[in-house]
Parts: sequence; structure tokens; C-alpha cells
Amino acid sequence: MKIILAKQAGFCFGVKRATQIAFEAAGKGGKTFTLGPIIHSPQVVQKLEEMGVKALENVAGMDEGTIIIRSHGAASDELEEAVRKQLDILDATCPFVKKAQEHVKNLSNSGYDVVVVGDADHPEVQGIVSYATGKVYVVASGEEAVNLPKMGKIGVVAQTTQSFENLRHVVDACLVKGGEIRVFHTICDATAVRQEEAKKLASQVDCMVVIGGYNSANTKRLAEVSAEIQPRTHHIEMAQQLDPAWFEGVKIVGITAGASTPKWIIDEVLEQIESIAKDKNR
Ligand code: SF4
Repeated sequence: MKIILAKQAGFCFGVKRATQIAFEAAGKGGKTFTLGPIIHSPQVVQKLEEMGVKALENVAGMDEGTIIIRSHGAASDELEEAVRKQLDILDATCPFVKKAQEHVKNLSNSGYDVVVVGDADHPEVQGIVSYATGKVYVVASGEEAVNLPKMGKIGVVAQTTQSFENLRHVVDACLVKGGEIRVFHTICDATAVRQEEAKKLASQVDCMVVIGGYNSANTKRLAEVSAEIQPRTHHIEMAQQLDPAWFEGVKIVGITAGASTPKWIIDEVLEQIESIAKDKNR
């Protein structure tokens, strides 16, 4: 059985950076917390907990120590509270997310009503929205944007993981809503690149294994796009979940992993599949 690992499997730049910052801080000891789970990987969160770094929902209960801001960023009032409490802040916000937050702040301060394209329940979007000082709307699609009110000046930014097509549909809808419109392309291509590669790989193999947290939206999406092409697609979090029966009659297996899946988990899965392949060839 041949095994093909996607080139872009695993950590994106922002997640890699945030994880490094968190583990370095954990290694130094002291009272250190993350504001929310550092990334959407229960295994990484658990490892950090074992090193004494717990995830907090907010800084209300903290009066000293270090708070790490995750790659999704944080709400501006939460950061202000951390500053007011004189906590040590380790800001691991992905620079792409930071850019979106800055655009919202600048647009708002310049009198624009802001439209954020994204998922209103996602912490990254909630963080971005919090930088608006005036009116701000979150829309998930062009269809939703049709219901926006008339505005004067409109500024549009997108959640970093949105598709370019969706941003374009929202901008189309906004064109008839105001007299002036400014659009910032704040989309990061890490997610799109992984999805394109997963689609290509799924069309070349007999079985796909997608690795990543069940709470990771980008991993779930990877599994979905893969399953549309290769129905024998399995989404797992850990190597222990692999079932040898999945590989019956399989000549080529493809493996990919979400942007928040650590390399050590991918390596364990690879090892386990290699061992299943050896057993099959005996
Ligand atoms: S997907 Fe892109 S924006 Fe999000 S953390 Fe990764 S690199 Fe940053």
C-alpha cells in the first residue's frame, strides 16, 4: 500500500507561531494562561495543561502572571483589561488577523460603517468586530448582505479563512448600499491551499485520512471536500482511531491534516498506517 502525505498537511504559519510562543512560555514556568484554547487541537491544549498552562475564558479571574493571546486574536476590551491589570501579555495573534483588526479600527475611526464577512460565532470574527468604534455588521454571505441597511461610507473586511468568492458576493451586494466603498482583502490562503491539495489528492487515492481536531472548522471542511471526491474519507484526531478495515483493498492512501494539527500527531498516524500496510503485505 502506497502512502501519500499532502505537502501542506498540518500547521499554518500563524498556528505554528502561536504554538511556539505558548510552549516557550510554558517552559519558563510561572503563572501562565492562554485566553481561550491556544489552537483547535485538544491534544496540544492538553500538553500545555500538563506543563501548567491552562486556558481561561477571560482575564477577570487573573490578577498576576502571563496571558497568551491565541492566533485568532482577542477582543479589544479583553486586551485593555489585561493591560489595566498589568498582566504580562504575550500576543500570538496571527499577523493576518491583526491586519484585519487594524483595518476595522482605521475604517471606523474614518467614519465608515464596517461590514465583516464571516461567521459571527467565530472568536476571530468576534475579536475583529470589537475593534470597530462605530457601526459594524457581520454577514456570512452575499444573500445575507442584501438585507444590510443603506449606509454612507462602507468598509469591508473578511475573516481570514473566508473564500474570495464569498467576499466578492458580499462586496457586490454592498455596492448598492452606500455611496463609497473600501474593500480590504484580508483573506489568508492557507485554508484554500490545503483544500485544493486535499481535492487533488482525494482524486488520486483509494482512501483518505484527514487528521485534526473535531472542533477545528478547517479540518472538518478538509474532510468534507475530500469526501465529496473520495467517499472512503476518514476524519480522525489520533492514530489510535485508525481501523485496519478501512484499508481493505486499498492500493494508495492519501493523508492530510488541518492547519491546527501538530506534526507529532501526523507522524504517529503515518507510523500506524505504515504498520497496517506491512501487516497487509505479510
Ligand atoms: S489560517 Fe492564515 S490567518 Fe489563520 S492563523 Fe493560519 S496563517 Fe494566520
